[in-house]
Amino acid sequence: MGKALIIGAGGVASVVVHKCVQNSDVFEEICIASRTVSKCDALKEKLDGGKTKIHTAQVDADNTEEVIELIKAFGPDVVINVALPYQDLTIMDACLATGVHYVDTANYEPPETAKFEYKWQWAYKEKFEKAGLTALLGSGFDPGVTGVFTAHAQKHEFDEIHYIDIVDANAGDHGYHFATNFNPEINIREITANGRYWKEGKWVETAPLEKKEVYNLPEIGPKDIYLLYHEELESLAKNIKGLKQIRFWMTFSEKYLTHLKVLENVGMTSIEPIEFEGQMIQPIHFLKAVLPDPASLGPRTKGKTNIGCIIRGLKDGQEKTYYVYNVCDHEECYNEVGSQAISYTTGVPAMIGAMLVMNGEWRKPGVWNVEDFNPDPFMDALNKWGLPWQESHNPELLDLDLDAKEL
Ligand code: NDP
Repeated sequence: MGKALIIGAGGVASVVVHKCVQNSDVFEEICIASRTVSKCDALKEKLDGGKTKIHTAQVDADNTEEVIELIKAFGPDVVINVALPYQDLTIMDACLATGVHYVDTANYEPPETAKFEYKWQWAYKEKFEKAGLTALLGSGFDPGVTGVFTAHAQKHEFDEIHYIDIVDANAGDHGYHFATNFNPEINIREITANGRYWKEGKWVETAPLEKKEVYNLPEIGPKDIYLLYHEELESLAKNIKGLKQIRFWMTFSEKYLTHLKVLENVGMTSIEPIEFEGQMIQPIHFLKAVLPDPASLGPRTKGKTNIGCIIRGLKDGQEKTYYVYNVCDHEECYNEVGSQAISYTTGVPAMIGAMLVMNGEWRKPGVWNVEDFNPDPFMDALNKWGLPWQESHNPELLDLDLDAKEL
């Protein structure tokens, strides 16, 4: 069907490339481009020889002109941005300059402040509309599948959705004292920020990891879950009409949190630049350099993830509850594509989002979040491409009231 340019060659990109190659009827030609071209070449070497033709290129995606040149040289139908959130705007600019559709998995973040907001990317809506191009934002798992799950519930289960609790559990064990499952800098910036959730039109703020509950997850069992801010809360609060409250919860082990606390207390998680041996560095960059590369966790990680949405609302005037979730096994992911489940659960939806933009099912001019589209083809594709979903109409529920202050 067409050509995709994949920017980034890390943990998530590796899964995207594997899945595009499996889906060669759609992805006839791909170019893997990243800052370190040897990582792109290693992926090509592993996967070359099938129906999908693979190219590689070196690119600094902070530089719009470089991305424009690469797009012009390769001529893709879509760019799949699985580099870092800092590159979102430069890559979107390059797509506009060359007339190519855009897909990513994480919202833009300014490097100097840990701010998770869609405002910068939503500001491109008119430009993409005028250019007749589709920008699909946040087509990973969370954000991504969580938005598709919500749109599916809205379409097939509810007349009105009132409450959503997104629960992201990772019961995987990699055997290290401390490691993050995806890019450590992005991961730690997210966790050490204040918690926030949306209630009755207002944001309610908590101290970082202040609110803890225990939730009994299917196929995983009871886990401590902590309230975090997560970027899909912003788009879902805007897009789901009649919503009263939406929260996001993530599991952390005590061991993980103890290590994180120590690192935070000694200043290692800070993004404030400091002078070190005559050079300005952000402590978190140094920390990233000494932590295990998330891509190396694959062969060591055992156990499962479970990510899903617990939803309450009305159907035909009656109160109703619904839970839709995916369980993913780290070892099965590794056996299939050589990556652990966190990269897998992000890379598969990125490929699916790009496929739906390419085949026209999810194509409309503008800048969109996943819940803006018909969830049906995405839900079908999840079952087909390795992330089957399950549902319950009688799930365990979380307490709706938290004693926290409004912003
Ligand atoms: P990695 O750190 O493993 O990979 C990032 C890749 O981007 C690396 O190959 C890196 O190159 C490349 N890169 C960084 N800066 C540039 C640049 N300026 N130009 C070109 N390439 C660059 O990250 P992950 O694969 O774990 O994460 C990828 C994305 O997925 C992130 O945006 C992350 O936030 C998102 N994500 C989304 C999730 C979701 O569910 N929605 C879940 C997990 C992640 P180099 O090798 O040179 O460093």
